[in-house]
Amino acid sequence: MSIIDDIFENAVASRIFKRREVLMPDYVPEVLPHREGEIRRLATTLAPALRGERPNNVFIYGLTGTGKTAVTRYVLRRLREKAASLGVNVKPIYINTRHRDTPYRVLADIAEAVGARVPFTGLSTGEVFLRIVKRLRVVGGIVIVVLDEIDFLVRRHGDDVLYKLTRANEYLEGRAKVSIIGITNSVKFIEALDPRVKSSLGEEELVFPPYNAEQLRDILEMRAAEAFQPGVLDEGVIPLCAALAAREHGDARRALDLLRVAGEIAERRGATRVTVEHVREARREIERDRVGDIVRSLPLHGKLVLLSVLIATGGGRTHTTTGEVYDVYQRLVARLGVESVTFRRVSGIIGELDMLGLIVGRVISRGRYGKTRVIELASEAEAVLDAIKEDPLLAEAVEEMAGRAVSGV
Ligand code: ADP
Ligand code: MG
Repeated sequence: MSIIDDIFENAVASRIFKRREVLMPDYVPEVLPHREGEIRRLATTLAPALRGERPNNVFIYGLTGTGKTAVTRYVLRRLREKAASLGVNVKPIYINTRHRDTPYRVLADIAEAVGARVPFTGLSTGEVFLRIVKRLRVVGGIVIVVLDEIDFLVRRHGDDVLYKLTRANEYLEGRAKVSIIGITNSVKFIEALDPRVKSSLGEEELVFPPYNAEQLRDILEMRAAEAFQPGVLDEGVIPLCAALAAREHGDARRALDLLRVAGEIAERRGATRVTVEHVREARREIERDRVGDIVRSLPLHGKLVLLSVLIATGGGRTHTTTGEVYDVYQRLVARLGVESVTFRRVSGIIGELDMLGLIVGRVISRGRYGKTRVIELASEAEAVLDAIKEDPLLAEAVEEMAGRAVSGV
């Protein structure tokens, strides 16, 4: 059999996966363990729609991977089914503003969902809003607009659309009714909202607490039963995925990613079982991807400062100082023929890299010399280096400087 036949054959009949898509982030499972309370509350809030009443607006918040999107989509799906079977006019509209990231797009999506005609671009948002209202006055019904990851929209464009939407009912005069469900990972964001929007959206609030390791285990067991071939998971695999994700604020997405990637690694290796070692590798791979994405998105001097930290902490040293980093940085820019930024700016960039989780700054005591601020790399050096090397301007300098740093110069 040719190599390609082999690959295709494996893809068709995986020894590891039964249905890999069950582990993908956008899959909405039929059962959501440990979210019964949240499901009940959201369903109770939305149920009046089935009687033609406007449900209260809801604000949902909680850290990433706590099931906000999954629970909301699940409840909406059930609501839509129930409304259809009762013949009542309820229209849930789900919009993720991370992907639909302008007010125009959000409104255009709503317009499309209610059957109002709007061009792809060209109208003012006010005009799109009017067309939605006009259309709703004709078709009526209860419209439930879900704005997921709403902080993405508001951070960039303010809360004007939210304000408009919360006021829509005033224009509808009871001929149709609009409810809004806002979902966010960021509590800070809520505080920044216009008080009118905040109080209107927050008619009800639903907080999703993080999962603990035990709960994550149940979630994984349930998904794994559908996703994997029977008996391919070693005993420790699910507990390890759950424990690792519990350490990261109880993120179910992270837990599922670990499990899926561990399975993919096992499959790639032609293994017949998924082992804890595969989970550990999955963790490294996911971490590499995460670091890589962040590093690639840095501007040039961000990369240069990061590289300077890397070099200054190379050769077996665990930490460095802003002064040392600046010296290395100076040599780097000279070597590359790039204009240098000031010490102050480098210090600022170090703070930004800290916020991104690539490095950590902390204060250590040096006995009678007092305290001093030191900098450490917080991510795997190799992953950082690989991503920096993708920048053609830096590739050569990396080879040379990193080589010298390691040899102790
Ligand atoms: P959030 O929107 O809070 O960031 P998600 O709802 O996207 O989190 O959940 C992340 C992943 O974890 C999704 O794949 C989701 O299906 C899954 N998930 C979250 N909670 C549960 C649960 N209780 N049971 C099963 N899967 C869950
Ligand atoms: Mg979500």
